[in-house]
Amino acid sequence: ALTQHADLAMYRAKEEGKNHYRWFDGTVAPESARLMELRNGLRRAMERGEFEVYYQPQIETATGKLSGLEALLRWKHPRLGQISPQQFIPLAEETGLIVEIGEWVLHTACAQNKAWHDAGCPKLRIAVNLSARQFAAPDLVGTVRNVLEQTGLDARFLELEITENMAMKNENLTTLEQLKDMGILLSIDDFGTQHSSLSYLKRLPVSRIKIDRSFVSGIGVDERDEAIIHAMLVIARRLHLSVVAEGVETEPQFGFLEEHNCDEIQGYLFFKPQSAEHIGKVLRDSLPG
Ligand code: C2E
Ligand code: CA
Ligand code: CA
Ligand code: CA
Repeated sequence: ALTQHADLAMYRAKEEGKNHYRWFDGTVAPESARLMELRNGLRRAMERGEFEVYYQPQIETATGKLSGLEALLRWKHPRLGQISPQQFIPLAEETGLIVEIGEWVLHTACAQNKAWHDAGCPKLRIAVNLSARQFAAPDLVGTVRNVLEQTGLDARFLELEITENMAMKNENLTTLEQLKDMGILLSIDDFGTQHSSLSYLKRLPVSRIKIDRSFVSGIGVDERDEAIIHAMLVIARRLHLSVVAEGVETEPQFGFLEEHNCDEIQGYLFFKPQSAEHIGKVLRDSLPG
């Protein structure tokens, strides 16, 4: 039903919470072809091994030593090339496939970390991102326990990153406490970007907060961002939480964070996320002697 006025007949299906376009006759517009292809490709991607886990090192600010790694999912689409997680993670959440994909990431990251430990690399913690859907799925705690058993990774070398919204949900509290009791480190990702009250920090079993890149990028540019980071660091210290700053790209940003005693740094200034093969080399090179 393409007419010369077709573009006028297109609207965004906002009420569906999806970024796709439909014609008024209900057929899907060309603009959504890419999104549809991505959404439909997710299951195939799992089955055919198109996903890969990349790893981004974190640095202890005071010493410059490697302190941890964050696992970040990558999708090499056979036709469309590299797809950003910012594009496909929301689709995976929407379809529910994120539960399966997330479990695969967890397993892959834990197995890889254990392999690095066994190879004599410095024993670092591996951080894995959790999605809200994984909390809603049955038995997240059992899933995590199984993965640790299967891979042989000690729980204290696993960190799970959750967002404020997940942390704020009362029904998630027991799960979080059980994960913490297993020895897993919990951290709040993208800290300060979602709607939450600071008071939840005092009752949550989290050990770390990750300051979002949107604040870090304001260092040296916007005094308000600097004030917010400063306040976050003060509160975190008083609550005995450690702090990682994300998205550190420049020396001045690093300088500010170092001066304000931010515990750890993650960002392109030091390392980009890279393949396991590449990070394995970084880890071996970091060994003394
Ligand atoms: P995130 O968890 O906040 O991850 C940090 C993002 O910042 C990553 O983007 C990383 O590559 C990027 N980054 C790190 N340092 C810098 C820097 O210095 N400058 C800039 N500009 N960016 C930096 P990435 O890998 O594209 O992932 C985007 C988001 O996708 C993640 O944000 C996370 O929310 C989600 N994601 C990635 N992997 C997974 C996963 O396995 N499971 C789930 N549930 N979500 C994931
Ligand atoms: Ca994260
Ligand atoms: Ca983050
Ligand atoms: Ca982020």
